[in-house]
Amino acid sequence: AMPSSCWGHAVRDEFLDPGVASDAEELVEAGLRPRALAEFVGQRELKEHLAIVLEAARRRGQSVDHLLFAGPPGLGKTTLAGIVATEMGVHLHITSGPALERAGDLAAILTKLEEGDVLFIDEIHRLSRAVEEILYPAMEDFQLDIVVGKGPAASSIRLTMPPFTLVGATTRTGMITGPLRDRFGLVARLDYYDADELQQIVTRAAGILGVSIDTDGAWQIARRSRGTPRIANRLLRRVRDFAEVRFDGAITAEIAHDGLALFGVDDLGLDKVDRALLNALCQQFRGGPVGLSTLAISVGEQPDTVEDVYE
Ligand code: ADP
Repeated sequence: AMPSSCWGHAVRDEFLDPGVASDAEELVEAGLRPRALAEFVGQRELKEHLAIVLEAARRRGQSVDHLLFAGPPGLGKTTLAGIVATEMGVHLHITSGPALERAGDLAAILTKLEEGDVLFIDEIHRLSRAVEEILYPAMEDFQLDIVVGKGPAASSIRLTMPPFTLVGATTRTGMITGPLRDRFGLVARLDYYDADELQQIVTRAAGILGVSIDTDGAWQIARRSRGTPRIANRLLRRVRDFAEVRFDGAITAEIAHDGLALFGVDDLGLDKVDRALLNALCQQFRGGPVGLSTLAISVGEQPDTVEDVYE
């Protein structure tokens, strides 16, 4: 029999979920996104590679090579696509693998691109085969094959499109097909940020939001952010609420600590579900081993969520 959970149904706590950005949050995030490479904190090696690729393209007067950014959610992949567009002085078009259901969806976007434009495809590992097939000749030869009509009468027209830059983002490099991966000129991996970098990110975001925060306050938020800028910015906004409602709005270490505790984020940056999982592993299953689905059931979560968010 499945062990019953002493936690009942754990409430999904989204403060620390790097993957959840609501539409409202997306709006705030947009305002916090660095626009120039020099403003982008951390990822030193990646920035250096990117700076060279951009400068070379600029000197040759060509569009930037296709770029693939891999890494967990919330680390800055969308931000980097925006930076590439800004630095090159071109438009940014944003879509995602799951949004491109049919080949025609992609063709419609591709025909709108102007010379040098950046097309950002998030979750590119979730593109369907049919859509990938359209993408290959577009990436390689800037050719677009469009099928007109249906059945035996169908024919295909080939259009030449202006050179563009595809920026793909994926949380799972393992799920990118070989042929797709091979068509990128640069594949870069984003790493989690260290607390010093997150402290800089929090301080920068506070400046943009017009919030007063001292270095210790920024540090308290940074070290609970799981190496993820999206989480750091979100915790900052919750602490700002707390500081405004209970105090005069300025954030100190103590206010950051108390505010985060109030929202259920402890000293280690663990939330309720994290603690429930650790408790299940250590107490209920006596240190394991325990299967993923059993563990997920014991805390009332989906196995996918345990894998993608909490692990
Ligand atoms: P991803 O596309 O990888 O999920 P985003 O690019 O949407 O991540 O970044 C999430 C948020 O984190 C954005 O609001 C952005 O402002 C912030 N952010 C990410 N990386 C950095 C960075 N290196 N420096 C400053 N802010 C960052």
